[in-house]
Amino acid sequence: MSETIKIAYLYEDLMNTYGDSGDVKILSFLLKEQGYDSQVDNISIDTKNFNAADYDFLFFGGGQDFEQSVVAKDLVRNRETIKDYIEANKPMLCICGGYQFLGKYYETVGGDTIQCMDILPMHTVFKADSRMIGDTTYETEWGTVHAFENHSGRTYFDDKDKLKPLGKMIEGYGNNPEDKAEGMRYKNTIGSYSHGPILKNENIAKAIAEKIITAHKERMAEMAK
Ligand code: GLN
Repeated sequence: MSETIKIAYLYEDLMNTYGDSGDVKILSFLLKEQGYDSQVDNISIDTKNFNAADYDFLFFGGGQDFEQSVVAKDLVRNRETIKDYIEANKPMLCICGGYQFLGKYYETVGGDTIQCMDILPMHTVFKADSRMIGDTTYETEWGTVHAFENHSGRTYFDDKDKLKPLGKMIEGYGNNPEDKAEGMRYKNTIGSYSHGPILKNENIAKAIAEKIITAHKERMAEMAK
């Protein structure tokens, strides 16, 4: 019988723009190739007592500003468990709105400030001149990634020693128009503005699948103690 990898899809019903759910499907496919089944749980506003440590991977997709404002209110109660999970080196992938939630706040087009989880030193602001829409290409540790972006938020790192970009921009905006950088890496957490879904890029998908298998083995070893 094959082992089951547990994936928590954060607010799947509210944060699911531009086919980001494809990332989870691709990972489940790659894990199956390695002999693992996967169980995907939607962690949302009706989920009681979410414990991130019960999972091998957390996924947080993109969303519209309205849905983000709804999610932000509920996210407060899950902040500590998600922070502990990230600090414990476990793998997480956050796309666009989900990525913005890792920082301190997100200023919307409508002039609202959405309080985010404030887990990592970054923040996201809006400037009236342009929405960042189009194809993106960037160079990462795992090779070139092709995707597309569609966001009004501009993300800036507040601590450039702690947070590293996921990639160096070749085409498109990425985090903001100035830094020529796309996404963020901290421990085994990756944030990115890339839809497409991003994991249609086999290089990065395989790297994340490996991290998930390692996290699963560690969780199983911990449970066996
Ligand atoms: N609403 C956010 C923005 O416009 C995130 C968009 C997204 O997740 N696609 O910046």
